[in-house]
Amino acid sequence: MSNDVLQHLLDNNQRWSEAKTKVDAGFFQRIAKQQNPDYLWIGCADSRVPANEVIGLDPGGVFVHRNVGNIVEHTDMNCLSVIQYAVEVLKVEHIIVCGHYGCGAVQTALDEGQHGLIDNWLRKIQEVYRTHQVEVDAKPAGTQRLDYMCELNIAAQVANVCRTTILQQAWQRGQKLSVHGWVYSLKDGLLQNIGLSICKPDELPD
Ligand code: ZN
Repeated sequence: MSNDVLQHLLDNNQRWSEAKTKVDAGFFQRIAKQQNPDYLWIGCADSRVPANEVIGLDPGGVFVHRNVGNIVEHTDMNCLSVIQYAVEVLKVEHIIVCGHYGCGAVQTALDEGQHGLIDNWLRKIQEVYRTHQVEVDAKPAGTQRLDYMCELNIAAQVANVCRTTILQQAWQRGQKLSVHGWVYSLKDGLLQNIGLSICKPDELPD
C-alpha cells in the first residue's frame, strides 16, 4: 500500500518540524542528545487527552504512558517498566496520574454487559467500584455517578503507583518524588488536582 492515504499527516509533520526549527534552530539537535523530563504522565489512551498538548510541553518535557482507563496494574510489565525507567533512570520528580471525566473505560466497566477481551482489563476499575459501591450508587445515575467513579479510579491508580516496590524503594533512598491525581475535563480542556498529592508513603490515605 502506498503512503498516499496518510500523506496529509506526513505533510503536517513536515510543517510542524519546520515551524519548530524556525523559532528555535537548535531544538531537535538539543533534545536528540538526551531526554530529561521532570514528569511522568500516566493517562488514558483516549484521543482527546494528549499529554504534551494539555500541559503545554514540547517534546522532551514529559515521559508518557497511556492505556485504556489509566490503570496501574501490578502485573503489567509495560506500565511497571515505564515507571521504573522514569523513576530510576530519568529521575522524574513528579508522577501525574491523569484520568478524565466521561471516561469510556470507566463507563464500560460499570456496564452490566459483556464486552469481550477488554472486560479482563477493566476488572481493575470494577474492583474500585465494588470497594466504593455504596457511595457510588448513592450518586444520581448518569454523568454525576460516572464522573465520581472517574475520580475514584484516579485515586485508586495513584495508590497503586505509590504501592509499587519502585516507589517504595525510591522513597526509602530519600529520592524526591511525588504522585498526583489529576482529572481532565473534555468540556473545557481544563485539568484539576483531585486533592491527592503524595510526597511520602505515609501520606497515602486508606
Ligand atoms: Zn478514558
